[in-house]
Amino acid sequence: MAAEKTKILLDESEQPTQWYNLLADLPTPPPPVLHPGTLQPIGPDDLAPLFPMELIGQEVSTERYLDIPGAVLDVYRLWRPSPLFRAHRLERALDTPARIYYKYEGVSPAGSHKPNTAVPQAYYNKKAGIRRLTTETGAGQWGTALAFACAQFGLDCEIWQVRASYDQKPYRKIMIETFGGVIHPSPSNLTEAGRKILAEHPDSTGSLGIAISEAVEVAAQHADTNYALGSVLNHVLLHQTVIGEEALLQLAKVGETPDVIVGCTGGGSNFGGLAFPFLREKLAGRMVPVIRAVEPAACPSLTRGVYAYDFGDTAGMTPLMKMHTLGHDFIPDPIHAGGLRYHGMSPLISHLVESKMIEATAKPQRECFAAGVQFARTEGIVPAPEPTHAIAAAVEEALRCKESGEAKVILTALCGHGHLDLAAYDAYLSGSITDHSLADEDIAAAIAALPPVPA
Ligand SMILES: *Cc1c(COP(=O)(O)O)cnc(C)c1O
Repeated sequence: MAAEKTKILLDESEQPTQWYNLLADLPTPPPPVLHPGTLQPIGPDDLAPLFPMELIGQEVSTERYLDIPGAVLDVYRLWRPSPLFRAHRLERALDTPARIYYKYEGVSPAGSHKPNTAVPQAYYNKKAGIRRLTTETGAGQWGTALAFACAQFGLDCEIWQVRASYDQKPYRKIMIETFGGVIHPSPSNLTEAGRKILAEHPDSTGSLGIAISEAVEVAAQHADTNYALGSVLNHVLLHQTVIGEEALLQLAKVGETPDVIVGCTGGGSNFGGLAFPFLREKLAGRMVPVIRAVEPAACPSLTRGVYAYDFGDTAGMTPLMKMHTLGHDFIPDPIHAGGLRYHGMSPLISHLVESKMIEATAKPQRECFAAGVQFARTEGIVPAPEPTHAIAAAVEEALRCKESGEAKVILTALCGHGHLDLAAYDAYLSGSITDHSLADEDIAAAIAALPPVPA
């Protein structure tokens, strides 16, 4: 049986050459992005100070397929097509009749899925005559990916990293500098937004929202500088669909179709990238997978937030997006899955949850680390703390199959390795990780600060 294979590969010649745009196939479009001053839908000109026109065009495009430029395909070939694995050893350890597949994105230069969008973003900015990109980074995955992509196209890259992570994870900083990026801890005294926070809180450990404010401010002030975002926006999820398109081809090679797809969600990009091509197939009636987003219980935007217009950053400089949010000044507990500590969710993913096309669930971090350790001992890959959420959900589903005797096909994205997150495993293995329970009052307080937008 072909399905017994462990590692399912595609040739370079089988590499997908188009991104898939889910907006073309949705029965209803997501609500528009609004200008925070006028509360009217924004137009391309509102985004032009930050993004090149080709990315703005992709953000609002309703074309079903968009060609991947040749120069981007060339860089993708350094690690794409990425392998799809059948988790035989994990299945045996769980004694489940389920068949578990994982698409491994840790083979990229940054060790995660993030270069799938960093590379085209750097390419389109270079083509538009931009000299420098700014961005924020939390745990450092996105900063590493953008620094790598900028090096490929001869752009400068300036990164504001959340202070707490900057101090805790020195290896990400070194990797970013090795790729040629310049990195500052955030809040910094280089921006108005940073100076304002430091004046009030000199010891601030920062947040993603603050770091976004700093990077956006610098990009808005310099004509030769643009800003790049690593998740949340439509064009980012679009670029990530190479994950799902490859996985579809790989599963077809072994004659499988998924019954359940699970993925971890911070801003929604690796999950959307895996799931959207399968959702296309589902909408066309060719398969019927259940599709489930998995978020941390400490930052549960999809499962406990509200669906409302909110800012993407703390200072309130970005346009307003309708999304599941915990409020733009919500500061999540310092869980180890730094990439999942964002107050909001991609508007596209939020819209799918709201229209019941996908499901969402939340998991506490100890259950996730337990699954991550079991995965490492069976499959031989130490997962980043973020995808341990997806692995925990896959394990839960596989154990349900053991009860029911169903041989379901479970698919997930192993969106990054945890080689630079070993301190988190140290904390788990030494028993010092706790599950923070999030009080309803804390969520209510953060949600009370949402900007007033008439229905
Ligand atoms: C950034 C990151 C995430 C969270 O971002 P998404 O946009 O939700 O994918 C998850 N896992 C890893 C490894 C990351 O680097």
